[in-house]
Amino acid sequence: MTSALSTYFDRQMHVLGSAVPDGDVPDLARLSGAREDHLGVALCMTDGEIMTAGTDHCFPIQSISKAFAYGAAIDLHGLEYVNSIVDEEPTGEQFNALSLDVWTKKPKNPLVNIGAIRTHAMLGPTQGERTERLRSVLEAAAGHTLALHEATRREEARTADRNLALAYMLRAAGSMTEEAHEVVEGYIEGCAVLASVTDLAVMAATLASGGTNPLTGEEVFSRVAARKTLSVMLTCGMYDNAGDWVSDVGLPAKSGVAGGIIAALPSRFGIATYAPQLDLHGNSVRGTLLFERFSEDFALHMLDGV
Ligand code: GLN
Repeated sequence: MTSALSTYFDRQMHVLGSAVPDGDVPDLARLSGAREDHLGVALCMTDGEIMTAGTDHCFPIQSISKAFAYGAAIDLHGLEYVNSIVDEEPTGEQFNALSLDVWTKKPKNPLVNIGAIRTHAMLGPTQGERTERLRSVLEAAAGHTLALHEATRREEARTADRNLALAYMLRAAGSMTEEAHEVVEGYIEGCAVLASVTDLAVMAATLASGGTNPLTGEEVFSRVAARKTLSVMLTCGMYDNAGDWVSDVGLPAKSGVAGGIIAALPSRFGIATYAPQLDLHGNSVRGTLLFERFSEDFALHMLDGV
């Protein structure tokens, strides 16, 4: 099975590598060395076995950090509290939409920017504690220390008007009391953490294993937090393409604007792809294609049993 999968991934790298994707590499991603020809995949089984193909270039995890921040918030405050602050409904809107439910004053879900900013604010009483907690959860899920891409962090901090607007919306609605600048800075720092597809596959496998890192054996999340995180990944992880994703791929997933996508098959494996050209939803073009093929070729859609 393992060598058959490696051969399969090698072939997909070849096939997708020669296709010219219909999408652009954002300037921000170029800051961390993203190139058109970058394409990589890694899969980590829940017993710790890893298969990789293509590039192992390290890139900013961007919005993939949102899923891990959410799991950390649940373990810190409990499900009931977190649910009372951030909802779990798909938005059908872009990742950075200026949206806040008018009645409940809750962000729709923790995987769009406004929900992730509010979730980040829950990670501790000070900016330092929040960023440290998020970093340590990301590193525990990956199984080793992860570097920060300083130029990405700086550039996002310099162009943070929209994220600041979201943070001020939360404050204006009475939904957040923390200082907007500090929360956004911490949130941006989480986005600028660097990882390879192998790191991300292990992080996804940590979720697939109910919160326990399959390589280190460390319990990074409670089973409840892992399950809840995977639930919102399933319904909201691919932004306004979440519906297509569920019907075409059928696995809980999360994408990042630097071109990464993670997905998990509970109790089986975590998988990550990297290809920096993005579609109009902000999701990786070739990553999405690879997931569609992989899910179909191995009948991995959660409804394939019907
Ligand atoms: N840092 C990006 C932002 O805040 C993250 C967005 C993403 O990966 N979709 O806009």
